[in-house]
Parts: sequence; structure tokens; C-alpha cells
Amino acid sequence: MTTAKAEELSRELLENVYELPHGEKINECIQCGTCSASCPSIAAMEYGPREIVASLRAGMLDRVLNSNTVWLCVSCYSCTIRCPAGIPFADVMYELKRLEVEKGLSKDSEGATMAKAFVETVDDHGRSVETKLLRKYFLRTNPFKALPQVPLAMKLFFRGRLEIFGRKIKGLENLHKMLAAIEENETK
Ligand code: SF4
Ligand code: SF4
Repeated sequence: MTTAKAEELSRELLENVYELPHGEKINECIQCGTCSASCPSIAAMEYGPREIVASLRAGMLDRVLNSNTVWLCVSCYSCTIRCPAGIPFADVMYELKRLEVEKGLSKDSEGATMAKAFVETVDDHGRSVETKLLRKYFLRTNPFKALPQVPLAMKLFFRGRLEIFGRKIKGLENLHKMLAAIEENETK
């Protein structure tokens, strides 16, 4: 990405963040690190929430998008609840995910692959189906990584706790209509 493009996207992202409830508070970050200390995914993230806020404020969107952080956020909202400055960081992560998907910037990271597989599975079934989700994920990343999970999967299967094909919810077409209406509304 060129520097000019990165700056343009940084501006676009910050404008979207300012439109969030309390989004303008991102400028009041005191770099206390409470968000990073509260994050359950911090050990696997290249940059924690505190560093992401600092990078965004410094216009270093490239650094953020090139890291694995965004797709490792599990939307637990711990950072948002505990931030002394009231910064809605979990919602900022959603803005970053949206930007990556809309602009086709999403790297083929494991986190992005898992997120895409999850959305497709929910779209097909109206709910999460773990066997299908993991099948998609492992086939798209590294099928051999599924092998250590086989004994656990067998145990769950014989106890009737594992669905092979996955049921669909009733009224799936209504869910699709609702999602289409939301999407249409968002593009207006
Ligand atoms: S908890 Fe809030 S104020 Fe503290 S570093 Fe994180 S975003 Fe900034
Ligand atoms: S919402 Fe995301 S970034 Fe915030 S604490 Fe939870 S996992 Fe970490």
C-alpha cells in the first residue's frame, strides 16, 4: 500500500470511529495499558489494544493492518468496559475488520480465515456448526493441524455431542432476508 493510500484509509477509518458512540474519545487515550492487560487474546496478538490505539492516532494504519491483531479480537468487550477514558475499543476493532473486508485488504491470516469460515457457516445454517466450521478452517489453512483434534472429536461423536452435517434453523430464509435488509440499509 502506498503512503498516500494508507493516509487516506487512516482518515476514513478515524472518521468512522468518530461517528461511533463515544468514538471521539480515542483522542483521550492516556496509554495506561488497561485494555491490553484485560484482553484474553493478548498473548497471540502482534500488537495489543494499547499499541493499536497509539498507531491509529499516529496515522500508522499500515502497521495495524499488517498485524494479526484485528482478527484475533473475540469481541469480549473487556477493554471497552475497563478503559478509564471510555474508549469503545471493541467497536474500533469492528471498524477495522469492516475496512479490511470492504477494501479487500484482509490478509490470509488464520484469524481472517476462521472469521470468514464462521460467517459462511452461519449463512448456510443460521447458526454455528463446529464440525463444518473447523473443516473449512483446517482445509484452508493446514489440514494436518486437525490431526491432534481427532481423539477428542471421536469422544464427542460417540457421546452424541458432535454433529457431522449440522442442522439448519427453521426460517433460515427469514434470517437471509433480515441480513439482506441490513446490508441494503448500510449501503444507503
Ligand atoms: S485502557 Fe483506554 S486509555 Fe488505557 S491504553 Fe487502553 S484505550 Fe488507552
Ligand atoms: S474486545 Fe477484543 S481487543 Fe478488547 S479485550 Fe476483548 S478480545 Fe481484546
